[in-house]
Amino acid sequence: MYLKSIEIHGFKSFANKIKFEFHNGITGIVGPNGSGKSNVADAVRWVLGEQKVKQLRGSKMEDVIFAGTENRKPLGFAYVAITLDNSDHKLDVDYEEVTVSRRLFRSGESEYMINGTQVRLKDVNELFYDTGIGKEGYSIIGQGQIDQILSGKPEERRELFDEAAGIVKFKRRKNQALKK
Ligand code: ATP
Ligand code: MG
Repeated sequence: MYLKSIEIHGFKSFANKIKFEFHNGITGIVGPNGSGKSNVADAVRWVLGEQKVKQLRGSKMEDVIFAGTENRKPLGFAYVAITLDNSDHKLDVDYEEVTVSRRLFRSGESEYMINGTQVRLKDVNELFYDTGIGKEGYSIIGQGQIDQILSGKPEERRELFDEAAGIVKFKRRKNQALKK
């Protein structure tokens, strides 16, 4: 499984629709300060269901929508879609390719989709359990996060190991069963 593309439209500094395409291997994104490199990482966190605005370096969720510049009007929504190659079926769905998207309007209305079907945030989370990819996964390591992991509480570190060991979904199911 690998990330094939990231499509961004109206998210943070990306007013125009843009599509980054990747191949199986290593890709670096380079650019001057303030050109939007970290915004690309934020876009991936966001589409994976990030709900904490602080993690996205904003103060309210609306801050992820393109706010306009001197010569360009603000946009009314933010949209991000990531497409993953799933030919090894690491994601537990039949599709060879999985596209997850999220759209947010200024009204606060929002929607998630998996391969074109509207889903709940919960479905997006479940799709990525135990893959290391979800917003709690270790696939996106932000600046300062290594320190946080090393100095964090043992329980927090434990969550990372659970994810890597692939037992998160069993734990969630157990907790749900205990609640019933
Ligand atoms: P550095 O090399 O300093 O880490 P970077 O390439 O990571 O820079 P980013 O932090 O991704 O840069 O981008 C910051 C830019 O994004 C700023 O110019 C900021 O004004 C712009 N930006 C952030 N949110 C929005 C928004 N909602 N609308 C328009 N522009 C935004
Ligand atoms: Mg940056």
